[in-house]
Amino acid sequence: MAIDESEHQDLLAGLIRLHILHHAVEDELYGHWMIEELARHGYRVSPGTLYPMLHVLERKGYLESRTEGAGRRARRLYRATEKGRDALEVARLKVRELFGELIEGR
Ligand SMILES: [Zn+2]
Repeated sequence: MAIDESEHQDLLAGLIRLHILHHAVEDELYGHWMIEELARHGYRVSPGTLYPMLHVLERKGYLESRTEGAGRRARRLYRATEKGRDALEVARLKVRELFGELIEGR
């Protein structure tokens, strides 16, 4: 099922941020990769939505970034900070709790 991110943006933005954080804990990621990863999970997210999210996550201290390459081939790689890792752990518990009610009816 393809979810039109633009239609429910506010509601889904938190889930997308957690998805970004999850992958940024596992490995470095860059924007285009993340857009394709989200697409694989049925989210259509434009660069105009994703890149600002990455910037905000970095500004709030959840991600840090470095630039690889130069000129037109330069790309920015993001990874989770300690704060990002901690936040994902907190979120994991909250998601499990919510999953119990939303999906399993507990
Ligand atoms: Zn994923």
